[in-house]
Amino acid sequence: MTKKYELPPLPYAYNALEPYIIEEIMRLHHTKHHQTYVNGANQALERLEKLRKGESQEGIRAVLRDLSFNLSGHKLHSVFWPNMAPPGKGGGTPGGAIADQINKDFGSFEAFKKQFSTAAKTVEAVGWAILTYDQESDTLIIYQVEKQNFMHPPNLPLLLTLDVWEHAYYLQYKNDRASYVDNWWNIVNWDDVEKRFSKVKA
Ligand code: MN
Repeated sequence: MTKKYELPPLPYAYNALEPYIIEEIMRLHHTKHHQTYVNGANQALERLEKLRKGESQEGIRAVLRDLSFNLSGHKLHSVFWPNMAPPGKGGGTPGGAIADQINKDFGSFEAFKKQFSTAAKTVEAVGWAILTYDQESDTLIIYQVEKQNFMHPPNLPLLLTLDVWEHAYYLQYKNDRASYVDNWWNIVNWDDVEKRFSKVKA
């Protein structure tokens, strides 16, 4: 592995969000919690690299779960920090295109704020409230994440997908999902994958 995940610096001082978030919280959250996710993601990738070189693939499920948890944590926090700004600079109401979109999709900023707040407050146990935008429907969407385990890194484009629901193979392969997967490699459209990749790589 040539490049590792790194803890991004905060775009402001640890005490910059006071009084709303105190320095101690910010310092611990950034240097301990976020750093742990960065380390965890790097360790999981190293373990996957070792597994690739070995005969046995034992333990891969646990490593992939680990990777998902830690990499999701890293990605989410990397957006979370710059999503905030010191009082005076942050806060208030949005302007520009995002304001127009919020008004279009939620009716008003107040209605958006209410729904986002409720989403955040009602996440089961621990997790996140998130705003995303779906180009397909041209809508902003609020969703919750429980814990932070997407089992995939959020906000990354889909380059190649494989459906392993039973409906995708059962009528032909019955319970033999492995054969379905093995055979599937024969029908992968790599030109399409390449096309998708070049879009995001550019
Ligand atoms: Mn956190």
